Amino acid sequence: MKITGCAVHAVTVTFEGVMPGTHVVLRLRTDEGLEGVSYVSRLGPRTLRPMALMIEAMVESLHGLDPRHTEDLHHRLTGPKLGAPVSGLELRAASAVDVACWDLKGKALGQPVYKLMGGFRDRRPVSANWALMPGQPRDRLAAHLEALLARGFRAVKCPVGFVPLDEAIDHVRFVRSVVGASTRIIVDLNFQTTIKQALRFARETEALDLFWIEDPVAFHDYEGMAQIRAQATQSITGGEVYQFPHEFRWLLERGGCDIAMIDQDLGLTGFLKVAHMAQAYGCPVVNHLAPEALSHAIAAVPNGLIVGLVPWGQPLFTEPLRIEDGDLVMPTAPGLGLTLDEDVLRRCAIS
Ligand SMILES: [Mg+2]
Repeated sequence: MKITGCAVHAVTVTFEGVMPGTHVVLRLRTDEGLEGVSYVSRLGPRTLRPMALMIEAMVESLHGLDPRHTEDLHHRLTGPKLGAPVSGLELRAASAVDVACWDLKGKALGQPVYKLMGGFRDRRPVSANWALMPGQPRDRLAAHLEALLARGFRAVKCPVGFVPLDEAIDHVRFVRSVVGASTRIIVDLNFQTTIKQALRFARETEALDLFWIEDPVAFHDYEGMAQIRAQATQSITGGEVYQFPHEFRWLLERGGCDIAMIDQDLGLTGFLKVAHMAQAYGCPVVNHLAPEALSHAIAAVPNGLIVGLVPWGQPLFTEPLRIEDGDLVMPTAPGLGLTLDEDVLRRCAIS
């Protein structure tokens, strides 16, 4: 099988009327008629077109190569060029190509991607990561939480970094009062607190039994993360903005997290490297965004903990991810198990 080209779509879609997302969708084409699918998010007016152009240029550089050789292709796109490391947007574009190659590999072999990657489990707990921020009317928040529980979710994630600490603590208390004791609550401090503020937050929410506290301090403050982790009794999670395995190595070597959060920027190829490295440190891994792709890596490895469902890419596909009794049930179809909604791609295209 050989790569022959691609189609790239820039779209803005909104999940259930509450969560908009702008994405570049890649369809990676081959001489056998199979198509690999992926998408990149977190794009704005300055990055949308460069991302689409970069993906097209990368695919062109891979013409004639076999997409099943994921290590080879990912290395060609992300290995050092003339001594300079590839970074930033380029890595994000390369990750989209990598994910589409894994999709193609699964389709070519007639297997779901998570089975090719190790197939450790076929379902994982899933958290609902939308519309749970502070600052909204309490009755609306309560209704949303109850609707999530009714849909089978048993874990929720609240971003609270952008409000004052007392308001953040109050918000989490309220969420616990609505969801009861058996639902997992994840809290994201979004890199906004100092070490002392983070420790105060951890202390004052101790009785709320949070599943983890995420990104208390700046992402490059490995020592700060280690200090918080050493003093807090709750689990500390970090890693969502790292683009290289060695950044996770630096965090893990310093004891800077209980749980490593891995973004699609590393590709599925890089995700697996970090997951295996983290396992050697006794550290579970979770995904940042792109649950449709990254859930495969989480299901594949023994230390895949839970899938975070940020659903803004869900409208791109004809079938929603399957949630059952608090778990994401992995698809049985070959590849990533995703079918693009052609009508949505047409209607929501950004011209
Ligand atoms: Mg986060």
